[in-house]
Amino acid sequence: MSLEFNNEEYQNEQTLFVDVILPLPLPLLYTYRVPREFSDKIKQGLRAVVQFGKKRVMTAIIAAVHHNPPKIYEAKYLLDLLDESPTVNSFQFRLFEWMASYYMCTQGEVMNAAIPSGLKLSSESKIQLNPEYSGNYEFAASEQLILDELQKKNLSYNDVMILLGKKAIHPIIKSLLAKGAVILFEELKDKYSPKVISKVRLREEILESKALFEEIFHKLEKKEKQLNILLRYMQLTQVQKDKNNNRLGIAKNILLKEDASASALSTLIKNNIFEEYDQVISRFAENNLKAEQEIKLSGEQLKAKEEILESFKIKDVTLLHGITGSGKTEVYIELIKHALQGGSQVLLLLPEIALTTQIVSRLHKVFGSKMGIYHSKFSDNERVEVWRGIISGKFSFIIGVRSSVFLPFDNLGLVIVDEEHESSYKQYDPTPRYHARDTALMLGRFHHAKVVLGSATPSVESYYQATTGKWGFVKLDKRFGEAQLPEILLVDTLREKKFKTMRHDFSSVLLEDLTLCLDNNEQAILFQNRRGYAPYLNCEECAYIPKCTACSVSLTYHMHSGELRCHYCGFTEKLPQKCDACGATKMKPVGFGTEKLEDDLKLFLPQARVQRMDLDTTRNKNAYQNIIQDFESGKTNVLVGTQMVTKGLDFDKVTFVGIFDADRIIHFPDFRAAERAFQVLSQVSGRAGRRGQKGKVLIQTANTNQNLLHQVIKHDYEGFYQLELAEREKFNYPPFYRIIKITVKDPEKNIAQEFAEAYVKLLAPELGSKRVLGPETPLIDRIRNNYLVDIFIKLEKDKINLTTVKEFLQRHSSNLLQSDKNYRNVHVVFDVDPA
Ligand SMILES: [Zn+2]
Ligand SMILES: [Zn+2]
Repeated sequence: MSLEFNNEEYQNEQTLFVDVILPLPLPLLYTYRVPREFSDKIKQGLRAVVQFGKKRVMTAIIAAVHHNPPKIYEAKYLLDLLDESPTVNSFQFRLFEWMASYYMCTQGEVMNAAIPSGLKLSSESKIQLNPEYSGNYEFAASEQLILDELQKKNLSYNDVMILLGKKAIHPIIKSLLAKGAVILFEELKDKYSPKVISKVRLREEILESKALFEEIFHKLEKKEKQLNILLRYMQLTQVQKDKNNNRLGIAKNILLKEDASASALSTLIKNNIFEEYDQVISRFAENNLKAEQEIKLSGEQLKAKEEILESFKIKDVTLLHGITGSGKTEVYIELIKHALQGGSQVLLLLPEIALTTQIVSRLHKVFGSKMGIYHSKFSDNERVEVWRGIISGKFSFIIGVRSSVFLPFDNLGLVIVDEEHESSYKQYDPTPRYHARDTALMLGRFHHAKVVLGSATPSVESYYQATTGKWGFVKLDKRFGEAQLPEILLVDTLREKKFKTMRHDFSSVLLEDLTLCLDNNEQAILFQNRRGYAPYLNCEECAYIPKCTACSVSLTYHMHSGELRCHYCGFTEKLPQKCDACGATKMKPVGFGTEKLEDDLKLFLPQARVQRMDLDTTRNKNAYQNIIQDFESGKTNVLVGTQMVTKGLDFDKVTFVGIFDADRIIHFPDFRAAERAFQVLSQVSGRAGRRGQKGKVLIQTANTNQNLLHQVIKHDYEGFYQLELAEREKFNYPPFYRIIKITVKDPEKNIAQEFAEAYVKLLAPELGSKRVLGPETPLIDRIRNNYLVDIFIKLEKDKINLTTVKEFLQRHSSNLLQSDKNYRNVHVVFDVDPA
């Protein structure tokens, strides 16, 4: 192979190269050459525009700067730099690298998830003619060619490359920019645009000279509209009292309220009396609230706080096991204050749906404008603002969802993961399939920060770490104030069915208690972890069940929208009038979801003011908030919902909780089913009873003898944990073993199966057949037209070099993929620590 690019400059030792992270699933970093004009500015962490392959132009992050040209390809010039100072810092690079290695993906995939799209070059970015071009420049032939083409349409970098038949177009575009002939690429390439308000103020010299001021007044005497504006400005800003007020100016729209004339203001600006300027403002309303009065911690809370600070002296991580309603938030607030006073940054992670609620406004009152919120429901601009706000020092405390582990912290002192057991901290799809709690632990380690994990029902893994002495362990086992733990009772639905006292899915006991609760002017929550009306329809004649055409699941019946819907791929179809198989008109809903509970309840208890909270009713941006407000204000008195009702909500007037279909949660086929069931049942129950009111919880079950239910009734986490831990040990599950789940996907069932079998044959001899399980067909073996086959790798926590095993898995997977052209559509998905 001959290298054709050995020109002198390329080999010059002074020539700079950069390794960049591209937003692509590439195993290696890619090297580019730095144009001379950038050599002074280039550094790690800057965003650069680069061309990759023949066609694509994209934003990359500079990971390293060096003098070594790549050995097997000619480095292209990077096209442009988007930053003066780094967007990504060295802590983040370390984290990206760790995540790519641990979660078996590429740094590009991590980077793609990490950086808000507002900081990436848009593929839509175009070069435009500058409509205000008034220069008189000579254009080179290539420049003229571009300009001619731009008369017809806007061009992307890529279009220009094709047009000119070469790749080194950057100097030409730079030249056109310098001449002002095209609109600044810089304005287009950042999708982020700051929020700007238009303001006006008096010209400084007018305020400085009394004579000038009077002269202007005199001139305006007959121009009523202009005079009005001047007077109004003086009244609103009080510049006569304090000249400095003028510097702050006033928003144009405020000055122009109440019939003030916009054209008169324009004249004043034209005549150099007022000046107009733009001010960049934060999208987050500035919070001028004075800090809330000192929070008085209860004796238990104070003790917990002291114990945590004490454990920080010897341990980096502490588990705070605080029962529901024990007031963990107050403890967090004190810890956060403590860390901020020490001058470091703080990150508080919350599960997605807990974030939009009470806790945020609570914390905002305490921490005001130094608190930034990072949420996936925010717009890109808002997310970019948080990102930049951390770099600029504006935000020293971030409260956010799992993706906030990616933010550019450079001085983290404390990370708190609330509800650490929550499965929504795990990203399932797309890659990186990371767990935000585990990532936060690593983030803490990189920053030498302290980490607190909080939960009323800790994950078995975390409780194990804490009770075996690896982490600190602090308990908060009294409810805050006078509140007591709720009384939990079981309702035997088999018995009620036998005596025919059930009304649809409601037991008589539950209906009685619910009625009593509403009669007392109190509120209730009904929990059913399944949305829609019925999980499926069934033909009474031929037993046919409508299924999704792309997935191996039955379609869920949604009565309100009159649809059948697939909860895996989103496919919907109109409710069939008759059975597709036999034509009979006897399609009957089987089972029940939140929608049916809501409907039935309206029938059985007309006095109930019911609202439903699930994925279907909270799709709009403010829907979730509205449902909560209605419930808080007493507009509604029964909340029917899925898991959503269990998160981060405290309602003072809820005294009754009804739980439907607990059995289905307990018997879900997954090794974490018992843990999940204990957690969710305890969490829902915890919604009942606050402020001195003892709450009541009813759990409907067909089997009242189940151990787990009795542990929930007794609030016996420890008992649950001991039994569960023994099971985990016996069957080689976490925390004793680590699991890597490998899913093989292919549109053809036999190919997926064949590949998985061949793969297992490669793995088992080396890893040992005890560590390689499968291939097995998952419960739902077809999603979005792909057949799935699972392989599970179980590895002991110690004795095994994890990195070596992962490399081994990946190597054999790619070798096998290339070994047979039948495998060209096969996808192999690695999920480390599946949740
Ligand atoms: Zn589907
Ligand atoms: Zn039928």
